[in-house]
Amino acid sequence: MDLGIRGRTAIVCAASKGLGRGSAEALAEAGVNLVINARGAEALEAAAAEMRARHGVKVTAVAGDITTEAGRRAVLAAAPEADILVTNAGGPPPGLWSDWTREDFLKAIDANMLTPIALMQAAMPGMIARGWGRVVNITSGAVKSPIPQLGLSNTARAGLTGFVAGTSRQVAAQGVVINNLLPGIHDTDRALALDSGVVKAKGISMEAARAARAATIPARRYGTAAEFGATCAFLCSVHAGFIVGQNIVIDGGANNSTL
Ligand code: NAP
Repeated sequence: MDLGIRGRTAIVCAASKGLGRGSAEALAEAGVNLVINARGAEALEAAAAEMRARHGVKVTAVAGDITTEAGRRAVLAAAPEADILVTNAGGPPPGLWSDWTREDFLKAIDANMLTPIALMQAAMPGMIARGWGRVVNITSGAVKSPIPQLGLSNTARAGLTGFVAGTSRQVAAQGVVINNLLPGIHDTDRALALDSGVVKAKGISMEAARAARAATIPARRYGTAAEFGATCAFLCSVHAGFIVGQNIVIDGGANNSTL
């Protein structure tokens, strides 16, 4: 399927690895020029070089922490007329509801709620002026089905979801479409870090921890960054213009609900 976005420009945040990288890769395959970001310059430059070589698109790498104002400014300056924005950042650490401090909450809210909101506020006026835009926020399945040990994530992402619910319906008439993608467990470094915690806590092997987690998923496996990225690219395509303000779960059926 031709996604109809060849020649467009996309910002993809937190994109040297994992779900952001999968999204960048799928957009590049669709002919989209990219501005990609991550903190570590080496992995970011390597990702950019690979995508340029593989897909023949322009890829600009902007190293920096997207949760800081300076990081966001640098990314936005590299794509002043972005047509597509994919927001993403690392997820908050696991823990116990009773232990988190005000500072812990502020850090999570900054990274996983206020950062994507600031990026949308900066990028969407241009999209509105040009009459076309796509925003995909990478959030988490925790928005629909809370993960007890990831309370910081549950909290911050719920706030972002509320912002998107209202804002997406205010900008849709001007051609700007915002949706959220809610990953369940995917085979990335983030999953590895969470599984390492289980290995340590339960004294089991990594293989056993992964098998136990996969057994809780109806698809009996972890998702891949490539299939996540393909869904993201579709939501950025010309075909997704009537999908507005949705929270789309990609989790192998893990969220057990009828609707
Ligand atoms: P990942 O494999 O750990 O990759 C994270 C990517 O983001 C890396 O490129 C990393 O590069 C970059 N990054 C992290 N913090 C950043 C920051 N502050 N500024 C700029 N770049 C940053 O993670 P992932 O699995 O793709 O997860 C992406 C998001 O989805 C996270 O918010 C995660 O909580 C959420 N999620 C993931 C899963 C899953 O199973 N994987 C499930 C639910 C939700 P640097 O470290 O070099 O910056």
